[in-house]
Amino acid sequence: MWYCKMYFPGRHEVIESDAFGTQGAPSQRKAFPFLESLLSFTELDIRKVAVAPRCISDDLESLDRERVTNAMVKLGGLADTHSFFRVLYTKWLYLRSKGFKNNGEEVTCALDELRSLPEELPLYQKQILHFFELILDIDKAGREPSRQVLRYYHFDKPDQSSDPELFPFRLLTTRFEPVDGDACAPVLYANTVADMISFSLQTCVERSITVRRCKNCGRYFAQTGRVSAEYCDRTPLDGQSSCRAMGAFQQWTLKQADDPVFKVYRREYKRRFAWIKAGRISDSEFYAWSEQAREQKKKCDEGIITAEDFQRWLKES
Ligand SMILES: [Zn+2]
Repeated sequence: MWYCKMYFPGRHEVIESDAFGTQGAPSQRKAFPFLESLLSFTELDIRKVAVAPRCISDDLESLDRERVTNAMVKLGGLADTHSFFRVLYTKWLYLRSKGFKNNGEEVTCALDELRSLPEELPLYQKQILHFFELILDIDKAGREPSRQVLRYYHFDKPDQSSDPELFPFRLLTTRFEPVDGDACAPVLYANTVADMISFSLQTCVERSITVRRCKNCGRYFAQTGRVSAEYCDRTPLDGQSSCRAMGAFQQWTLKQADDPVFKVYRREYKRRFAWIKAGRISDSEFYAWSEQAREQKKKCDEGIITAEDFQRWLKES
């Protein structure tokens, strides 16, 4: 049995499910940047979310037609709040399409699962954050997640870590199959929220992907690009520009404030920019120049050429 598929093509993650809960070809596909679902899961306000599963399980158990419909709507709402909850919604769609009475055992299990969520979800959040601190956080745990896993997990009891606050890896169903047309990847066939968490964490370890707290917003981000990245590139919570863009801008203005070389550079830049308006040079000539100027500036910053060389270049170019 499975209710959602999850896989990580390159720097993305994809979660697929069947809108009818029939476990056929998935009809819904959501793509996110790599690890975004896990990261945003740790940021969920669980007190708000955890109220829902209680009412939902009561409604479902009542078998009253109207209350069951009501519960399904709420489960759908929960799935919209976070992609990990899609697995619950699809499971109940499936059970409903098969008829609750014909699947007594599965329904009991699924009800137990819903009832335990208010305790499980905050526990998962803690365990994931602890996993970050001990295994994946480049600033706390270093650059080698697999080494850290060997340190903290007992491999004769693979479902247990030496630390009860660390997320225990789950036994997962995966299949290696073609994804997105041109590549193959392990695809998780998820039954529970914990399956998706486990798969996300293990993929980070497998690919040696570390995480770091962003210097601007303080949220964790996955280092899928440069390990030296200090600012996240995640979608901001408040609709402002991303931290990477903000950070680069802040660093740039701070550094330039009292740099005499930069002042010369900026003066030349402005002067030439004015030439475009005056019709002395074309846009493309200006861009070609500014590209060269940035290269020269970079060489100067890196000490390959001296500040004098750079200033001379600016004047003569
Ligand atoms: Zn940030």
